[in-house]
Amino acid sequence: MTTKYVFLTGGVVSSVGKGVTAAAIGRLLKERGFSVSVQKLDPYINVDPGTMSPYQHGEVFVLADGAETDLDLGHYERFIDISLNRVCNVTTGQVYAEVIAKERRGDYLGGTIQVIPHITNEIKRRIGLVSKTTDAEIVLVEIGGTVGDIESLPFLEALRQMRTDVGRENSVYVHVTWLPHIGATNELKTKPTQHSVRELRSIGISPDVIIARSDHHVDGDLREKIALFCDVDLRAVVPMITTPILYEVPLLMDKAGVGDFLIERLGLTARSQPDWTDWEHMVQEVRRDKPTVRVALVGKYIELRDAYMSVREALLHSALSLGIEVIIDWVHSAEIEKGRGWEIVRAADGIIVPGGFGGRGIEGKIQAARYARENKIPYLGLCLGMQLMVIEFTRHVLGDEEVNSTEFDRGTNHPVIDLMPDQRDIADMGGTMRLGLYPCELQPGTIAKGAYQEDVIDERHRHRFEFNNAYRDLLQNAGMRFSGISPDGRLIEIAELADHPFMLGTQFHPEFLSRPNRPHPLFMAFLEAVVEQMSVSKPIEVDTSTINTT
Ligand code: GLN
Repeated sequence: MTTKYVFLTGGVVSSVGKGVTAAAIGRLLKERGFSVSVQKLDPYINVDPGTMSPYQHGEVFVLADGAETDLDLGHYERFIDISLNRVCNVTTGQVYAEVIAKERRGDYLGGTIQVIPHITNEIKRRIGLVSKTTDAEIVLVEIGGTVGDIESLPFLEALRQMRTDVGRENSVYVHVTWLPHIGATNELKTKPTQHSVRELRSIGISPDVIIARSDHHVDGDLREKIALFCDVDLRAVVPMITTPILYEVPLLMDKAGVGDFLIERLGLTARSQPDWTDWEHMVQEVRRDKPTVRVALVGKYIELRDAYMSVREALLHSALSLGIEVIIDWVHSAEIEKGRGWEIVRAADGIIVPGGFGGRGIEGKIQAARYARENKIPYLGLCLGMQLMVIEFTRHVLGDEEVNSTEFDRGTNHPVIDLMPDQRDIADMGGTMRLGLYPCELQPGTIAKGAYQEDVIDERHRHRFEFNNAYRDLLQNAGMRFSGISPDGRLIEIAELADHPFMLGTQFHPEFLSRPNRPHPLFMAFLEAVVEQMSVSKPIEVDTSTINTT
C-alpha cells in the first residue's frame, strides 16, 4: 500500500496536547487495522533533547535504539503500543548538521546551499525514512511549536511540498488549536483559530481537520462557525474538551468521528472495527473510587512534573491493574537535605528515587533511601536511584562514610559508583551515554526474577556511571543482592536488599517500557509490596539529625 501521511500542526498556543492528539489518532488508525508510526519534527537547534535541562524540555524519552527524544514519543509508544526508532524525532539541529556535512564533503558540486530546497529536501528525506525503516502504512508527522514561529517555517514548507509529492489522496493536514474562554461573557472565542488557519494558509497549507481544544463545552453553532470561517468540512471540526484522563482522548476522538473521517479521506477502508473494551475499562477504573496509596517521588526537577512523565504513567498503569490509586507526593531532594519536607516522606507508603544528573540534592535522595531501608518502606530506585541506594547501603551498613559516585566527587578514593571505562575518553556530552536496549540476566531466587518471571530481559538505559565491581563481594556479604547482571557478567543492572520487603534499584529505566495494557513487572512488584506493607506495619520514626548531610 502507498504510504499515507497525517500531518499535525498546532495553532494559537503551545501546550494544548498536540502530542497526545497525535498519539490518540495513531491509536484510532491502528484500531482500524493499519500499521502506524509517528514522527515528531522539533524546530529547535539542539541535535536532540539529550543535552537539555529537564526544566526546559521535560523528560528525555529513550528509544530502544538509544535515541534520546522528545517526551511526546513516550505518548506515541504508550498509546499505540509500538516501538519507535531514531528517525522518529528530527530536529533543526540534525537537519542542518547533515546539510552542512554534505556541503563540506562537496556533495553539492558548487551550488549555493539554501533553506529551500536543501533544508526542506533534507526534512522530506527524513520524513520518508519512517516508512523505509518501519512497517508503517500510515505515518503521522507532528510539528513541534505553533504556526507562526519563525523556526518552524522550513518544516511547514516541507509539509506543504509533501502534498504535491505524495498526492492529496495520500495526505491529510490536521490543525490543533485552542478556543479561549472569556469568563465575563461566558463565551468561547474562535477568532484565534481563524487567525491561525489564515497563517497556515498563507504558507500554502489548508487544514483538512481542525481539532479545537477547549476547557468548556463547544456547541454546534461554534463548530459551524469554525467550519465556515476556516473552510473545513463540518464533520472535520472536532471539539476536544479537556479531560483529566489522558487515556480517554482516543475514545473521545473516535466518538467524534475522527478515525472514520481520516480513513475515508485517505481513501482507505477499515480492515477491522475498533475494539475499545480495554480502554473503556481503563478509563472506568481511573474514575472509580479506589483504595489509595501514597508514593513519595524524591527528585530535583519536581517543579516540572513533565520531567518524570514516564515514571508517573508507569505508576498509573500498575495502579490501575492492581485496583488502587497512587497519589504521588512530589518531594524536592534539596529540601529533604535541609531537613524540610520529611513529613511527606514519613507519610509515604512507598518511595521512588528517579533518574537524574549532577550533584544538587543528592544527599537528600540518599537520606530518603536510608529512611526507606531503615523503616522497611518499599523503595524503587531508577538509574540514579539505584546508584544512590548502593551508596547509602555502603555508607551506613558497611560504615564506609566516604563512599560516593565519581559523578559527585571526582577525586573520591571510595568510588562505589564510577565512570564506565568506555566513557573515560569521551569529550562530547551529546548522545554519548550508554543508551538504549541492553540485555540483563536475572538471578534465581531474587525479587527481580520473581517479578519478571523470565531469565533474560531487555531494558532501556541512559547513564555514564556504573556500579564498581571492586565492591561486589563486600556488599553481597552485607546483604545486597545483585539480581540483574549483564550477560558478560560485568555490569550490575539490578540491586536489591535481601532483608527488606522491597528495596530494589535498576541501572536501567523500566518506566520507558510500561504500557497502559502491559504494566511493567517492577512497578507492579513495587506497588504490590506497598500494599502488602501497609497492612503489616506502621513505619517507625527516624531521627533525621543522625543522618549524614555533608
Ligand atoms: N547520573 C547518573 C549516570 O550518568 C544516572 C543517570 C540517570 O539517572 N539516568 O550514570
